[in-house]
Amino acid sequence: MANLTSSEPRSIAVLGAGPVGLATALAFATHELDVLLVAPALDPARLADERRTAALFGPSIDFLDNLGVLAHRTAVSAPIRAIRIADAREGLVHAPEMAFHAREIGREAFGSNISNAVLVKALADAVMAHGRITWISTPGATAITHAPGGIQLKLAEGRTVDARLLAAADGRLSIAPRAAGISVRRWSYPQVAIATTFHHSRPHRDTVIELHGAHGPLTTVPLAGDSSSLVWVETPDAARALLDIDAEAFAAHLEERLQGVLGTIDTVGPRASYPLSALAASRMGASAIALLGEAAHVIPPIGAQGLNLGLRDAAALADCVADARTRGADIASDEVLEAYHRMRSIDVAARSASIDALNRSLLADMLPVDVFRSLTARLIAGLHPLRQLLMHGGMGYVGHLPRLMRPNAPRPSP
Ligand SMILES: Cc1cc2nc3c(=O)[nH]c(=O)nc-3n(C[C@H](O)[C@H](O)[C@H](O)COP(=O)(O)OP(=O)(O)OC[C@H]3O[C@@H](n4cnc5c(N)ncnc54)[C@H](O)[C@@H]3O)c2cc1C
Repeated sequence: MANLTSSEPRSIAVLGAGPVGLATALAFATHELDVLLVAPALDPARLADERRTAALFGPSIDFLDNLGVLAHRTAVSAPIRAIRIADAREGLVHAPEMAFHAREIGREAFGSNISNAVLVKALADAVMAHGRITWISTPGATAITHAPGGIQLKLAEGRTVDARLLAAADGRLSIAPRAAGISVRRWSYPQVAIATTFHHSRPHRDTVIELHGAHGPLTTVPLAGDSSSLVWVETPDAARALLDIDAEAFAAHLEERLQGVLGTIDTVGPRASYPLSALAASRMGASAIALLGEAAHVIPPIGAQGLNLGLRDAAALADCVADARTRGADIASDEVLEAYHRMRSIDVAARSASIDALNRSLLADMLPVDVFRSLTARLIAGLHPLRQLLMHGGMGYVGHLPRLMRPNAPRPSP
C-alpha cells in the first residue's frame, strides 16, 4: 500500500473528522493552505444514532458562514433569542430566575441550535468539495512519531502519512497529547446526560430553558417548529431509569419537570446517554502538534460551551498557521504553537473552570453554596453592565476573535 510521504515542508495533517476536525480542515483551506484530513469515512449509521444538537453562538455561526457551510441554515436550525435559568432544587434558599434576551445586547439572536448530524454532514460535504483538502480514509491512526521534517502518522492498515504540522482533533481519547509530551488531567462526575428531541404543544418562543436540579441541569433548546432538544442530567441510577421507560412515560416525567412551560409533550425521539466526564490538557500544542476540541478539553454539557470552544480552537490555529506562512516562517515552529496556546488557553481554562464550578455547586447541597448562588443571581439580575458582560462573554465575544469568526471575513473561493 502506498505511503503518503510528502516532504512538502508546509503540509498539514488534521486528525479526526468530528465537527472540530472537519471545521479545522476547512479553516486551513479557506486560508489557502493544503490539508490532509486523516480520519474514518463518514459513517451514516453513526450519524443516524447521533442524538445531540449543538447550540452555536454568534462567532461560531459567523465561522460556519465564512467556511461556506450551512448557508441555508434557517431550514435546519432554530434561532436562540432568549435564555431562562431557574433554580428547581428543593431547599431553604432559592436563586431567583434569570432571563437573558439577545435584544438587550442589540442582537437578534444569541445563536442557533443545529442537529449534530446535520452539522457534521454539511461540514463533511464542504470538505469533500474543497480542492485543497485530501481526505485520507482510514480506520484510524494508531501511532504518532516525530520524523525528520515533521510528524509521521501510522495508520491502522499499515500506511504512513507524513506532515510538517499535525492538528489533532481526534476527540477525548486522542493519541496526540502523549506524542506531543503534553500531560492530560481526566476526571468524571457522578452524573449522566440524556439527550433527545421532543415535540410540544406550546411554542418555545426561541427560548432556552435551563432548570437547575439537585443532580444537574435539565436544558431544553429550541428546534424548528414546536420542537426542542433536551439535555437532562441526572444521577447514573435515575438516568438508567429514564432510559428504561417507554417514550410515553418519559414524556410524562419531562412534562412534570417542565411544569407545563412547553405544554403537552406528545412525541419523544430516541434517547442516548452520555456519562459526564472532563479532560484538560496542560498545553494546547507542542512539538509540531496542536490539540483541538475534545482532544484538548472536555467539559460537562452546561451552557452549551464545548463545541463553541472547539470551533474557536480551529479558527485560532488557522490564523496562527496562516500568519506564519505569510511571514515565510515554519508553520510548525514552537513560536506558532506558543502563539496558538496563548490565544486559546485562557478562554479554555476560564470556561472549563466556571462550568466545573457551576456543576459542582449544583451537586453540593450545602446552605452556604446555595446562599452564594442566590446572591450571585440577584447581582446579575440587578447589574446591567454585568449582564451585558455575561451575555457577550457567554457567546464568545471576549479576548481575541479569530479572523474567520468575524462577520463577513474575506472568503477565498475553493
Ligand atoms: C449531551 C451533550 C450535549 C452537548 N451540547 C452542546 C451544545 O449545545 N453546544 C456546544 O457547543 N457543545 C455541546 N456539546 C459538546 C460537543 O458535542 C462536543 O464538544 C463536540 O462534539 C466535540 O467534537 P470533536 O470534534 O472535538 O470530537 P468528536 O466529535 O469526538 O470527534 C472526534 C473524531 O475523531 C475520530 N478519531 C478518534 N480517534 C481517531 C484516530 N486515532 N484516528 C483518526 N480519527 C480518530 C473519531 O472517529 C471522531 O470522528 C454537548 C455534549 C454533550 C455530551
